[in-house]
Amino acid sequence: MTDRHKIPERSVSERIKDFEEVALPFDLETAISEAKRCIQCKKPKCVSGCPVEIDIPGFIKLIAEGKREEALAKIKEKNALPAVCGRVCPQEDQCEKECILGIKGKPVAIGALERFASEKTKSETLNPKQIQNSNVQNSKVAVVGSGPAGITCAADLALMGYKVTMFESLSDSGGVLIYGIPEFRLPKRIVRTEIEYVKSLGVEILNDVLIGKTITIEQLFKDGYKAIFVGSGAGLPNFMGIPGENLLGVYSANEFLTRINMMKAYKFPEYMTPIKIGKKVAVFGAGNVAMDAARCALRLGAEEVKIIYRRSRTEIPARKEELERAEEEKIEFHLLTAPTELFGDEKGWVKEAECLKMELGEPDKSGRRRPVPVQGSEYRIPVDTVVVAIGNKPNPLIPLSDSRLTIHNWGGVIIDQQTKMTSIPGVFAGGDIVRGAATVISAMGDGKLAAREIDKWLSR
Ligand SMILES: Cc1cc2nc3c(=O)[nH]c(=O)nc-3n(C[C@H](O)[C@H](O)[C@H](O)COP(=O)(O)OP(=O)(O)OC[C@H]3O[C@@H](n4cnc5c(N)ncnc54)[C@H](O)[C@@H]3O)c2cc1C
Ligand code: SF4
Repeated sequence: MTDRHKIPERSVSERIKDFEEVALPFDLETAISEAKRCIQCKKPKCVSGCPVEIDIPGFIKLIAEGKREEALAKIKEKNALPAVCGRVCPQEDQCEKECILGIKGKPVAIGALERFASEKTKSETLNPKQIQNSNVQNSKVAVVGSGPAGITCAADLALMGYKVTMFESLSDSGGVLIYGIPEFRLPKRIVRTEIEYVKSLGVEILNDVLIGKTITIEQLFKDGYKAIFVGSGAGLPNFMGIPGENLLGVYSANEFLTRINMMKAYKFPEYMTPIKIGKKVAVFGAGNVAMDAARCALRLGAEEVKIIYRRSRTEIPARKEELERAEEEKIEFHLLTAPTELFGDEKGWVKEAECLKMELGEPDKSGRRRPVPVQGSEYRIPVDTVVVAIGNKPNPLIPLSDSRLTIHNWGGVIIDQQTKMTSIPGVFAGGDIVRGAATVISAMGDGKLAAREIDKWLSR
């Protein structure tokens, strides 16, 4: 059998100078050759690893036959965002983890093939057949938030014949796909094309509407919406609570990435909204968000970028390929290290971070080994910019605006696992507002299941 084909990438020296995409698509020949590695299992385990249940062998077979557009249509039967998923989904933990070829060798490159299918395809092939349900046609459903959970729920409901309006508090649609993940991993034009596709299904998107403030949940029902899906995400940053965290030059990763992505600081001076980045940048945390912040800082001119993480490389939660790309780009990893205090200069700008060495103890509740401080191991490093990327909590606005909505003590909205309904009848929820910060595909899976449950609820 042929070896798994490597995903092509731009060279390190070229890519760190700009925000253009790092990973490149397979060419036709490579895609066909990779697709032919798939043995078309009768009971494909890869599909059970996919939260949105894509017919993986089905679309791969079409690629193997050179039918790219048909392959895309097959994916779109289940997934409204293939170009996004083909780029950012952690396939190594999902479909590819289950692929039978992975037992003795390397799994089929399902993610790269999904991306290939979504490249440069004529728009008229993008609409799968509309599924009309005459009982519910034209019932109005509101979707709150235009991230992957909201987009998927809206697209599926539109395909069932519902009249869907998506309310988004920001001026641009796409959620984290637009304001969080940087251009070099997920170009904005890709997200915009996917949003246009969702609109082409009849979904109306109203931007700059903050549900819970501009309009309440109760008001939406009064306005004739028969059901509501809340996919408002986890956009509230965690902080470390260490002295000096409010010094100038200390950003939350949210603010840092939003200013780069949405305010287009990466296009300065074309856009007059620069972000101040020093020469010595420290990023606290080692998830996808931390890797993105570190790699953005590098591209915006930082000379030294350090990732400071309290566990070892094995526990790093970022996607493996993004970790490897960050390492290739010479981001420095200070592992088993925790920041304890930040010090400023006379003008209040951060200038030093004090760190403490850690060692790994017994596993904690998450199953990962707990970091234990090594007493007396404090040392200081010079910094002029710090980005705190240690996780996000669910956005609290909607829960705060309606006391009927029950939430966990960590802020997540509580839903019935079967029906996806919250404590308010007719209000459903999914994605990061329910799970806490998770993944694009899990948010999409939630949106898909919620659409089915909304349909059941409205057809009862
Ligand atoms: C920098 C970064 C990198 C990431 N990288 C990856 C990755 O590589 N792979 C991966 O799988 N996952 C990644 N993730 C996680 C992934 O993006 C999220 O899990 C996913 O976007 C969650 O989707 P969602 O629809 O629940 O919420 P979001 O994408 O957060 O969307 C929620 C939307 O709701 C809007 N909203 C909030 N409150 C209101 C309100 N009151 N009224 C109206 N609108 C509202 C918000 O503005 C937002 O647009 C990353 C996250 C970040 C921040
Ligand atoms: S498990 Fe792997 S080999 Fe089998 S159908 Fe899925 S992708 Fe193909």
